[in-house]
Amino acid sequence: MNSSQQCENEKGTSRRGFVRDIAGMAGITVAGMLTSPLLQAKDDRIAASNPQGEPSSPQATGSKYRKCFLNELTPEEREKGFGSQSMFLVFSDDDIIEGSQFFSAMLMGESATKVAGHGPHMHPHPEILVALGTDPEHPHDLGAEFEVYMGMEMEKHVIDKPTLIYIPARTVHCPFKVTKVRRPFLFIQSQYASKLGEKAMRDLVPADMRDKYIFIDADGMQRDGYIPPAQRAKRRPATGS
Ligand SMILES: [Zn+2]
Repeated sequence: MNSSQQCENEKGTSRRGFVRDIAGMAGITVAGMLTSPLLQAKDDRIAASNPQGEPSSPQATGSKYRKCFLNELTPEEREKGFGSQSMFLVFSDDDIIEGSQFFSAMLMGESATKVAGHGPHMHPHPEILVALGTDPEHPHDLGAEFEVYMGMEMEKHVIDKPTLIYIPARTVHCPFKVTKVRRPFLFIQSQYASKLGEKAMRDLVPADMRDKYIFIDADGMQRDGYIPPAQRAKRRPATGS
């Protein structure tokens, strides 16, 4: 259950759960008949809690939904695991926002071309990668070029336009290598999982390259706590997934 669902459920059984229970006992027709009155009852409850009908501020409501907003988290809540790395403009997983999938976004600049990038690996869950340009006058111009290798056979793909890449579970991918940056571009990574699970495939690159690529091994069961600034690794350029 995530924070917003917890918020919805704090006064007891949610409407959806209640209707589901009713449907299970007496059939969907009864549930349908009940839905409208329940909706009205909820609207009445909201109106009673906000008689002026005005938008409420987080302060006025005691920050009921604060934990749904990354920018309203304290450093101790937000700077956990990858959330402590400044290269991510936004980062969340289940340790930062309860119930959240692994999600990150970064702005890739010229410095990304100076590093070898992320080495070959696979995840137990699917992954989505998104690359977007940042020129509103030319939204279909990525302003950059990068390479992604797929499969044990290392099939090479060159990307120079905004795109989305779906990587099925347990599919080898990378190296990821940024080759040109004319204009910084947005790069988003999302796992179909609440924590990163990753198996490094070091044997797929020459031995003399293994210490140049980034490799991560994680079973997806790890829990991340707050990492104080003094304990953080030195900032390195964005490297992709
Ligand atoms: Zn990956």
